Amino acid sequence: MQKLYYFVSVILFALTANAQVFNQSISDKIQKVDSVLNQLIVYENIGTKPTGSPALLETLQWITNKYRFYGYAPVIDTFKIGSNESYNIIIEKQGTNPNKWIIIGAHYDSVDESPGANDNGSGVVATLQIARIIKDLIPKIGVRIINFGAEEQGFIGSSHYVKNKLLTSDSILLMLNLDQLGGTKGEDNSKIYCERDEDTNPSSNNSLSSLMTDTLSNLISLYTNLTPVISDAYSSDYVPFENEGMIIAGLYQESDYSDHYHKSTDLVSNMDVDATVEVIKGTLAATLYFSKMNGFISVNEVRNKYYDLNPNPAVNYLTISGLINPVSIEIFNTQGSKLLSQEVCPNEKIKLFDLSNGLYTVSILNHINNLKIHSKLIIAR
Ligand SMILES: [Zn+2]
Repeated sequence: MQKLYYFVSVILFALTANAQVFNQSISDKIQKVDSVLNQLIVYENIGTKPTGSPALLETLQWITNKYRFYGYAPVIDTFKIGSNESYNIIIEKQGTNPNKWIIIGAHYDSVDESPGANDNGSGVVATLQIARIIKDLIPKIGVRIINFGAEEQGFIGSSHYVKNKLLTSDSILLMLNLDQLGGTKGEDNSKIYCERDEDTNPSSNNSLSSLMTDTLSNLISLYTNLTPVISDAYSSDYVPFENEGMIIAGLYQESDYSDHYHKSTDLVSNMDVDATVEVIKGTLAATLYFSKMNGFISVNEVRNKYYDLNPNPAVNYLTISGLINPVSIEIFNTQGSKLLSQEVCPNEKIKLFDLSNGLYTVSILNHINNLKIHSKLIIAR
């Protein structure tokens, strides 16, 4: 039952998350994103930041001092990697629901050769901006920001965190990873990859990741001048979360940075900082939206005013209340495949036996007035 509750709760979260419209309050907060140029230069000037280096410790000090200045109490999660130690930096903005969280992650280490302005100073300054701007807001769902260590050696910090630091009482509704945001100076940086889970081990979390990533891309379109491009998630700190069945999404620049990737030329002067700022605006919009920071979203908003699906969540049967004449219905899964198509009379019970647990879209076409309505349906047994 606990599992079913979690499933329904996550799916309701995803369902409400898919109903976004432009919100002035989110737009107003986005205007508070600063130029990140100075912060990126400070990060770059600390030097290369491989695990075990003094520069990594200096970076940790710089990040934690910023968080303290903003009013947080950062927690350092220490872990071993060979004969070295590394550290994750964690801050929390508690939500009114004590156990539900979204995680925003961005690693702060670099490879030996690179000062890492883009990889991943850009992600680090994004988390600093978000932390500053949300400090005095009250989310319904808590926001946990984590700067991971030892990402460059194979997501060691995020693996350690997932295996050792997550509480069994924590419901992680989304892990959003930020790694390389912005792009290459002089190139077209108008596109941003919104990364979804296409990994099949496990595949149980893929459809919700897809839904959340669609929402993320809609938010990017609504609140930035960037064009979102759906892509697959790979090779960053969301991987250990995905492996444990959690729902993930990521942001990653679209333009080719290979001339500078993991090289000594990964410098602010080779980045498009304006594009980085746009991605940060989109990330902030996503943080405000997914954490319900404004309290303006409710499940009721996704119910249309013409018809109601009963019950919802459904088990084996569904009826559509509000019908006064026969309609055509079609049921689609989150991948957009049509799984059911039939005529339905008022009070008729629609059989759902052939559909598995999950989130669906029900299209209802009224032939008399040609009105077509889409509703979300959850099946949970
Ligand atoms: Zn990276």
